[in-house]
Amino acid sequence: MSVSTDYYAVLGVRRDATQDEIKKAYRRLARELHPDVNPDPGTQERFKEIGMAYEVLSDPQKRQMYDLGGDPRAAAGGGAGGFAGFGFTDIMDAFFGGATSRGPRSRVRKGNDALIRIEIELADAAFGSAREISVDTAVICVACSGEGSAPGTHPVTCDMCNGRGEVSQVTRSFLGQVMTSRPCPQCQGFGTVVPSPCPECSGEGRVRTRRKLTVKIPPGVDNGTRIQLAGEGEVGPGGGPAGDLFIEIVELPHPIFQRRGDDLHCTVTLPMTAAALGTKLPLETLDGPAEIDVRPGTQSGHAITLRGRGIQHLRGAGRGDLIVHVEVKTPTKLDAEQEELLRRLAKLRGEERPSGEFAPGQQKLFSRLRDAFNAR
Ligand SMILES: [Zn+2]
Ligand SMILES: [Zn+2]
Repeated sequence: MSVSTDYYAVLGVRRDATQDEIKKAYRRLARELHPDVNPDPGTQERFKEIGMAYEVLSDPQKRQMYDLGGDPRAAAGGGAGGFAGFGFTDIMDAFFGGATSRGPRSRVRKGNDALIRIEIELADAAFGSAREISVDTAVICVACSGEGSAPGTHPVTCDMCNGRGEVSQVTRSFLGQVMTSRPCPQCQGFGTVVPSPCPECSGEGRVRTRRKLTVKIPPGVDNGTRIQLAGEGEVGPGGGPAGDLFIEIVELPHPIFQRRGDDLHCTVTLPMTAAALGTKLPLETLDGPAEIDVRPGTQSGHAITLRGRGIQHLRGAGRGDLIVHVEVKTPTKLDAEQEELLRRLAKLRGEERPSGEFAPGQQKLFSRLRDAFNAR
């Protein structure tokens, strides 16, 4: 029995026939085809057919279900075979936007991605490096090759759902009888059961382990940069393909250099005399010792740029800069001789009674304020 049987055609009525017309058509055919009247085997088959057609079309709820594409006789548990062609659940999905999964689901699924953080030094970020790391992950079970069955055994078709992975149920609702499907409780929707699970992995097809691997850190990485290692994540259930492993970079602070983008910044303190007279200043850079040329008359706050001594750009060639900020230190705790020397210097420069000067921008502001006072 399947829905391809047209009950209306069997009774010889139109699809919009009234209940009375259906009843009359059935009675007429039943008299004509009754086994007592007509014992021919083909006629007996026809007689059964009109009986089934009348059973469905005479009941308004069953008729509505049939009109929607379902087979109310099969759904009621009467017939074998269930739904044929497009099922009633498909119609329900079309009406209510349901997402009923069709068929058994696979035991094999893709593994999860994993994320681990590693701490690196500034020099590693600048030039790149290689690091050996340990990851706790899941790998394929070698005892069962990921299948989950004990050696020599295999999964068998679930007898509750006959391998369909779902079981159907008929409930009453405002639409009449409604068929709903849910994952088979015996096989969890897989359509198969594992009679003797692999003892190594408890049937999961994968085992947890700790694995060592070497990560290549490219030059130019920064705090939060993620390096994707395809297929180095966890193996999935049922020995499914592994996810990806992401390495997130945590850059440790450097005692001297602060990183801003790919540039490095540092501050050096110079005695007043050196700033005034100029000097060569030794400096330890990421590339080794260097010498900075401090020109005579260098002011506090001046910045000296060493081109290309910063971090390698992650994308594209070249490196950032190293920027050295100069801070001029005013001498304190002068002894008598030093003080005398400075007084003489001040006198020579006509700076015994300095008036103090505003910086150019502030000077403008000051004159505006003065004008405002004078205008009163
Ligand atoms: Zn196993
Ligand atoms: Zn099942």
